[in-house]
Amino acid sequence: MTILITNDDGIYSPGIAALARIASRFGKVTVIAPDVEQSSMGHAVTHSRPLSLKKSPIVFEGDGIEAWRVNGTPADCVALGSHLYAKTDVVLSGINMGPNLGNSMWHSGTLAAAKQAVLLGIRGIALSTPVGKTEPDFEALAPFVERTLALLFENKDLGLYNVNFPPQPKDLKWTRQSVRLYDGKIVPGVDPMGRKHYWFTVTPLEPAEEGTDRWAVENDYVSITPLRLDLTDEQMLRKVKEILPV
Ligand code: MN
Repeated sequence: MTILITNDDGIYSPGIAALARIASRFGKVTVIAPDVEQSSMGHAVTHSRPLSLKKSPIVFEGDGIEAWRVNGTPADCVALGSHLYAKTDVVLSGINMGPNLGNSMWHSGTLAAAKQAVLLGIRGIALSTPVGKTEPDFEALAPFVERTLALLFENKDLGLYNVNFPPQPKDLKWTRQSVRLYDGKIVPGVDPMGRKHYWFTVTPLEPAEEGTDRWAVENDYVSITPLRLDLTDEQMLRKVKEILPV
């Protein structure tokens, strides 16, 4: 199996090194990732300037992994990577330093890379974990990352998955996306030069529903959500066709 790995935290993130190390047990791994952090960039692509590619080895004991950094977004990295490595079987994105649960899927650069893979006809898996006061313990997560990959690699169908690891997982759960309102608060502040600035924060307003991704991670389960690219609201489509015929 040939595996392409990217992320949105950038090539120097410990999360991508951890993922490359674990994934290399399953097949031939190539890393292609943004040269700087691209978190919360969503599915942005670079179309008004060229992209450049620089060798940027991820080194751990005899890894033999080819790694590249790109002056672009996570979606750019997948587009470029799947062009250069045309036989890619699966794209992995992560492990993101921060959760990508519920509504944050709309902003996530980590998930966008996996979405880009599926748009190009390649299986895509996004992997994330929360960051507390300390760095994530990737050594402790490794057995769960390996178990999740083994599970998802069994299904050869074109698919998109969003995976989130709690800090200390007890098991795996299939979940659906939690769709609850969040506050999207703007917090004003002042910079050291006395100029006004603003922070954008996202805090969910309601508790998570059982069976959802947020609920699973809050209860120490690895959350695995199969996603689709078709955003059509089928129920609403049937309804508007009936009540508002055109
Ligand atoms: Mn990130």
